[in-house]
Amino acid sequence: MPELPDVEFFKEYFKDNSLHKKIINIECEDKTLIKNVDFRDFKKSLIRKSFRDAWRIGKFLIAEIKGISENLIIHFGMTGSLHYVKQGEERKRRDRFTRLCFRFANGYELRWINIRRLGKIYLTKPQNIKLIEEMGPEPLQLSQQEFLRLLTNHELKNIKAFLMDQRNIAGIGNVYSDEILFQARINPHRKIEDLTQRQKKILFQKIYQVLTEATKILTFYRAFPKSWLEPHRHTNDLICPRNKNHKLKRETIAGRSAIFCPLCQT
Ligand SMILES: [Zn+2]
Repeated sequence: MPELPDVEFFKEYFKDNSLHKKIINIECEDKTLIKNVDFRDFKKSLIRKSFRDAWRIGKFLIAEIKGISENLIIHFGMTGSLHYVKQGEERKRRDRFTRLCFRFANGYELRWINIRRLGKIYLTKPQNIKLIEEMGPEPLQLSQQEFLRLLTNHELKNIKAFLMDQRNIAGIGNVYSDEILFQARINPHRKIEDLTQRQKKILFQKIYQVLTEATKILTFYRAFPKSWLEPHRHTNDLICPRNKNHKLKRETIAGRSAIFCPLCQT
């Protein structure tokens, strides 16, 4: 699930607690999740080194390592997260799903948790990863004009599929495409060519608003407001946040489990 706002949150978390600390050991519970390098070489390259900086590209977290030119690149998959904690301490239930762990000289460790094992770890330069190389622009750096041009180039596509395709725009997945379309009042089944110019402009605004607000919310509050679609995703009654007489619909769109209000979103 981690999408742009979540990875932005992990990036800050990583920077807050894992920079400039000497790595003294690395443990890996599932070596198949390390993609482009053998675990022994991975370990050899990183031990006695430290992380110097971190940034985000799409849904990837990139860390700079002092003294080597390759980067540690983390993709969280569907269920990934980070946890910085005292070595050996089991504080959260999800700690059991730690797949990779960096032990630091200060007695703490950084755990990469990946319940469903869909995440990936690389030790390389970002441009060597196909998904990054082919990635579209960052949505928060996109101008309205560029966005409208992107839409024109993909007129026959379904709007939700368009938003989730990393080659069009980076960082948006199932959850935030649902939220953006809900807040823009656009039905996720719509084709781009059927959207009015006004809807396209609203969509552009909502992409920016939802992603920036979600990043703030994750950092400071941890819970989305009830007026958003997100808190209603996993409820049984599926009541629309805009009108209690509307029932949200769950449907597979572009291969993902979408949620939307068929009455508010047209
Ligand atoms: Zn509604």
